[in-house]
Amino acid sequence: MSIQRNPSRSVRIGSISVGAEHPIAIQSMTATHTQDIDATVAQVNALHAAGADVVRIAVDSGKDAEALAEIRKQTEANLSVDLQESYRLAEKVAPHVDKVRYNPGHLYHHEKTRPWQDKVRYLAEVARDNNCAIRIGVNCGSVDPEKKAQFAPEDEIGPILQSGIEHCEHLESLGFERFVVSMKDSDPATVVKINQAFAEKRPDVPLHLGVTEAGLPPDGIIKTRIAFEQLIGRGIGDTIRVSLTVPNPRKPEEIQAGREIIDDIYSGRLRSVVALDPTALNIISCPSCSRVENEAFVELAQDVKAMTTYAKEHAITIAVMGCRVNGPGETDEADLGLWCGPNRVNLKKGEESLGSYPYDEILEKLKEELDKLITAQTA
Ligand code: SF4
Repeated sequence: MSIQRNPSRSVRIGSISVGAEHPIAIQSMTATHTQDIDATVAQVNALHAAGADVVRIAVDSGKDAEALAEIRKQTEANLSVDLQESYRLAEKVAPHVDKVRYNPGHLYHHEKTRPWQDKVRYLAEVARDNNCAIRIGVNCGSVDPEKKAQFAPEDEIGPILQSGIEHCEHLESLGFERFVVSMKDSDPATVVKINQAFAEKRPDVPLHLGVTEAGLPPDGIIKTRIAFEQLIGRGIGDTIRVSLTVPNPRKPEEIQAGREIIDDIYSGRLRSVVALDPTALNIISCPSCSRVENEAFVELAQDVKAMTTYAKEHAITIAVMGCRVNGPGETDEADLGLWCGPNRVNLKKGEESLGSYPYDEILEKLKEELDKLITAQTA
């Protein structure tokens, strides 16, 4: 599946680059106490071995920063730190990492009278002196109160978007372009809305995608997958993190989940409907899970792909979903949708139900409907 990526610029983070034509990088974050050096090194290295392109570590104190210096010596992973409220720790941590993340909504906590522009200037200087990239990490749960006050209380997106854009422009005005932006929320729908809005205004800025507090697998993975399908499927997103609530030894599952989501999107295995190529035929089929009631679903998905090749130049989306739990709703957005029950397959045209058919009759019915759509498109 060829997805037209946004023309974002290339940003180097240690040994990798994100943005432009680079593969979508996968990140994770340690959950150990940073000062427990052995445990943190073990987790960083486990994530690195699982394929993490960047590993983030939280640093909240001078002692954490000292531990970081030791951790750096014991790993080859690309490291990033989260400054949280202590932006002034930047000069202590930057010598040991490849990227520094700050949250525009946390800058006001210290030195309240110092303008945020000065604080960002300091961060840019520290990053530049230490060969680091920056992530402007906007979080819907911690928006700068001053920014929030400029928008109507019900406007969820406005303050976050404006905050992200202003920080990009400020860094650029300082001659610093080695940055990425993230706009995260715990609601996948908000993550989609806000990242789409940002990408429309600043397609040149690489985006780091994530759904915060996604939760336990498998639900946490599903939530994240739904947001990522809508964004990555439309060319938005240069690096990702899947945040899962798992015990420390299972942390590398975040990397595995991220890799699977990206591979599935590029192979057209989607749980939600998105036209991966808006100019041609899109056949998408869900990646399947324990809810599949008839294993013939997998074969059917392959048969649909093979049978419809004759229509490959028509901008039509066909979704094939494996179960009656999510299938009926998830196919609403497709031009033609199939969802599989235990013995029959249900056929839909948009939201309209066209009936249910045995597995060995559905292909013929689908072809009839596809031909009708093609005739209507070419009429
Ligand atoms: S549509 Fe159903 S079978 Fe397919 S992945 Fe979603 S829940 Fe699982």
